[in-house]
Amino acid sequence: MSAIELNNVYFSYVLSETDIIKAVRGISLSIEEGSFVAIVGHNGSGKSTLAKLFNGLLVPDYGTVKVFGMDTKDAKNVFDVRKSVGMVFQNPDNQMVASIIEDDIAFGPENLGVEREEIIRRVDWALEKVGMLEHKKGTPFKLSGGQKQRLAIAGIIAMKPKVIVFDESTAMLDPQGRAEVMKVAHELNKEGMTVICITHYMEEALGADRLIVLNDGKIALDGTPKDVFSQYDKLKENRLQVPLATQVAIALDEAGIKVGTNIMEKDELVDKLCQLL
Ligand code: ADP
Ligand code: MG
Repeated sequence: MSAIELNNVYFSYVLSETDIIKAVRGISLSIEEGSFVAIVGHNGSGKSTLAKLFNGLLVPDYGTVKVFGMDTKDAKNVFDVRKSVGMVFQNPDNQMVASIIEDDIAFGPENLGVEREEIIRRVDWALEKVGMLEHKKGTPFKLSGGQKQRLAIAGIIAMKPKVIVFDESTAMLDPQGRAEVMKVAHELNKEGMTVICITHYMEEALGADRLIVLNDGKIALDGTPKDVFSQYDKLKENRLQVPLATQVAIALDEAGIKVGTNIMEKDELVDKLCQLL
């Protein structure tokens, strides 16, 4: 079953009569329930607009977005759509609302009208999932960037969405923080949550089931990461780079060391090199 389905979706930001930015231009797409989908694309390619179309923060000018069959344009679906698709944004500091961590996590479910006992259970459950349970009584302000983003994730999953969208949620983090967030994303996916990960780190797309490349509001490439990263000329056209291990493999190939260019991970490259030595 598809979690989110877009049919020929268009969206423009209308700034004035003459200044219209066509951010999404004819996207059709079906995201399978339980999948891990990465979306990449240069700045301004429409990723964040697409993310907001996924959870009804924006509705299409033309075409339809359906979330578990619910048309996001239909006013009666707004609440259920928002509840089904949670979003984690880029800046961890903008996503905290309370000065005590457990209150911060309780805020979302409280707004959904979840009963007290259940909220208490969910706060512990969500903090446990992101490895932050021991910080429950603490304050979010002293945490590292990675910890703050894990807290943001806990706040979202406490609302029990079926889909979680990360919109460049690792962009402001150091490598350790990025790894922490990606680990949580994959764990949630293993437990059945549909994950959509918008990123500009190609390495983060490697573990996805599917990789979609956006360019100027359209889908430029769509396939497994291996499929997409093997089309490096097309990626270049889309102003994107292949993962570092692939770049090295291509450079080695050009220098006559034939490790094969369809390599994505560092370990894979090391293995191939060792076989040649
Ligand atoms: P990305 O997330 O890939 O960087 P966006 O979806 O944010 O892309 O932006 C797509 C296009 O829409 C860009 O040209 C951007 O400048 C424009 N845009 C995004 N948000 C707004 C907004 N709130 N008002 C006007 N234009 C916007
Ligand atoms: Mg963006």
